[in-house]
Amino acid sequence: MRAEVAVVGAGIIGALTAYELAKRGLEVLLLDAEKPGAATLASAGMLAPYPEGLSGELLQAGLLALTHYRDLVAELGEKGFPVEAGFSGTYVAALTPGEKEAWEAEAPLPYPVRGGLGARAFPGGYVHPKALREALLGVLRGMGVPYLKAEATGVGEGKVLLAEGEVRARRILLAVGAWGERFGLGVRPLKGEALLLEGPSPPAPLFAGEGYLLPREGGVYLGATGREEWQEGVDLFGLRWLADYAHERFPALGGSRFRGVVFGYRPLGEVFVGEVGEGVYAATGHGRNGVLLAPWTAKRLLQLMGVEG
Ligand SMILES: Cc1cc2nc3c(=O)[nH]c(=O)nc-3n(C[C@H](O)[C@H](O)[C@H](O)COP(=O)(O)OP(=O)(O)OC[C@H]3O[C@@H](n4cnc5c(N)ncnc54)[C@H](O)[C@@H]3O)c2cc1C
Repeated sequence: MRAEVAVVGAGIIGALTAYELAKRGLEVLLLDAEKPGAATLASAGMLAPYPEGLSGELLQAGLLALTHYRDLVAELGEKGFPVEAGFSGTYVAALTPGEKEAWEAEAPLPYPVRGGLGARAFPGGYVHPKALREALLGVLRGMGVPYLKAEATGVGEGKVLLAEGEVRARRILLAVGAWGERFGLGVRPLKGEALLLEGPSPPAPLFAGEGYLLPREGGVYLGATGREEWQEGVDLFGLRWLADYAHERFPALGGSRFRGVVFGYRPLGEVFVGEVGEGVYAATGHGRNGVLLAPWTAKRLLQLMGVEG
């Protein structure tokens, strides 16, 4: 098999970059091992550059996402792939006088928070990452971009090695999230678990203390735990933390019906977007902000590949 660009990993980073490349007429092939715990499938998708404490280039990257996703969601909707998203901001609730001062949280809370003293709104929003990824893969399919369920075992000399066979490509992108170690990328997993509930949601992502909640499919996404480990599934410890947090912090969720739980491995380390060998590029280490930083990452990769100035 051959392609101009082989994209290894179809999380938000790989799928969005593949889409941007294919839109510019490059012959792209996307392959993914469909590993349990892919971050994008479990992600909250908050676009929260200020509450996440980003600064400098990454803050600018986060702000770029707000306009980029607004346009992308409209574009995908026009192509018949609607994606849940909101761009009305993000809120931070203050739970102590110190937090109230630090966040200048003088506005009323947009949603009942037990112990909440006020809120501050920031520019931001959210997208539904799993739905966005599915929409991107759907559009790519329509553009004739091949998708291969396969695990890459190595790369080099214009080849992606698979358990059976290989893909030849002039350029290769490694967008394998937390699984970068086998390719020599300095990244490790920060497992996160989140709860999906029926019930009233705030109008936009709301941070309160150790966690947050946001709208999701007519209900609520509430997250998230964080442990550095490879451990598949959601365990009792995670479930208990999430249930206690929901119960103690948000009175409106009392009696809410359980919809499900999700888990994923955030790629933890320094954000890295660069060339790691001749014609081999990598993008990883986006941690808690991979959805937010994906548009900037795709743009950087296109520049590095010489596809865009
Ligand atoms: C609970 C949770 C909440 C989060 N909330 C937010 C948030 O609110 N905002 C935000 O911006 N970010 C958030 N994140 C982080 C964000 O989801 C990640 O940073 C982002 O999804 C990483 O995308 P990725 O494409 O690098 O990796 P992934 O989505 O993990 O995708 C990597 C893909 O590579 C594939 N793969 C791995 N190895 C191979 C191989 N050898 N061969 C072929 N394929 C391979 C895997 O199957 C996988 O599909 C959250 C994450 C979690 C877990």
